[in-house]
Amino acid sequence: MGLKLPAIEGGAPVREKALPYARQSLGDEELVAIKQALDSGWITTGPKVAEFEKGIAKRTGARHAVAVTSCTAALHLALSALGIGPGDEVVTTPLTFAATALAIMYAGAKPVLADIDDKTLNINPLEIEKKITPRTKALLPVHYGGNPCDMDAIMGIAKPRGLLVVEDAAHAIGATYKGREIGVFGNATCFSFHAVKNMTTAEGGAVTVADEGLAANLVAGRFFGITSDAWQRAASEKPWEYDVSEYGFKYNLTDIQAAMGLVQLGKLDSFLARRKEITEMYDKEFSALGELSLIENTTGAESARHLYVIRIRPERFKAGRDRLLAALRAEGISANVHYKPIHLHSFFAGKLDVNPGDFPVCEKAAEEIITLPLFPDMTDGDAGSVVEAVKKLVDYYRVN
Ligand SMILES: *Cc1c(COP(=O)(O)O)cnc(C)c1O
Repeated sequence: MGLKLPAIEGGAPVREKALPYARQSLGDEELVAIKQALDSGWITTGPKVAEFEKGIAKRTGARHAVAVTSCTAALHLALSALGIGPGDEVVTTPLTFAATALAIMYAGAKPVLADIDDKTLNINPLEIEKKITPRTKALLPVHYGGNPCDMDAIMGIAKPRGLLVVEDAAHAIGATYKGREIGVFGNATCFSFHAVKNMTTAEGGAVTVADEGLAANLVAGRFFGITSDAWQRAASEKPWEYDVSEYGFKYNLTDIQAAMGLVQLGKLDSFLARRKEITEMYDKEFSALGELSLIENTTGAESARHLYVIRIRPERFKAGRDRLLAALRAEGISANVHYKPIHLHSFFAGKLDVNPGDFPVCEKAAEEIITLPLFPDMTDGDAGSVVEAVKKLVDYYRVN
């Protein structure tokens, strides 16, 4: 038959050195910028953060951007600044990272889950409608894998009901929906610059908003509720004077991180272009395999291609997803899963009054998905080794 024995069955692996599923792209430019920030004498929130915020606003087309320490902080801060708190419900997806649900709980509100769309794996607007109650205050869609949610449908649900929309765009910097960048649709959009995301400050995040008053609340809210930060005060007549004018947190980004972020932002288009090249190669190879199905893009959207997720058709395989995942890893391909659904985590199950079986589309998808390596510094040879390993395993484990 000429079948190659998978490494997990005792054969030779496709790769000697494991390929991670994600890796940051950093060069000397970041080092130079970080050194400049260090040498400037001002290393925490200051002029570089302001410049970075201008850059994020310009990039996304949003009127204001406020930089914070993480996307989790961004979500918490945005929800709080929008007045969401105890007694309120926020509708979100079960197929996301824990941070999405946790941030809602930090604000004191209750995450209410709505099942996903089977094709895009984004929250399904029809399911959102079923979850709206008199306590619903906001919708919190997640642009899964960088593919924008159907924002027309989501805003169409939110606006007539007076609901707020806060987007988890941790995966989606640079994605567009109907020609406009993610960052300009909901009341607030939250980005992540964590190391594995499409651009990075090691840890970091930002909120984009259109409303000027809201932007001012976010700026104060990220720094103890003080309207002027230390940098601004340093230049004022009475640098010792400050007023805590609202409830605030300690979520300010540093100038060191912002300096790095500015360089990364300048490289974002080349990162996105390289992600596109790799995903197009994957799509071409994997769409030819009847054992797999691919995640579809939202109509009118251009994905930021943060994650490359394949879905196995379990009935076509002699091995289960977890065995295939382990087999891929044994081949030197560090595949992963995004995500274990929120309602299947013991903490959320106990807190949110949710049970296995509640979100069948999400649960079925979660048992079939595999995230393959995707990052700009992958070579064509790396991508080729991913394709080779997947094909090798499909050949070996397919039901004939
Ligand atoms: C990474 C991630 C977050 C959290 O981002 P941090 O910057 O690490 O706080 C939130 N939501 C999703 C979907 C993520 O992938």
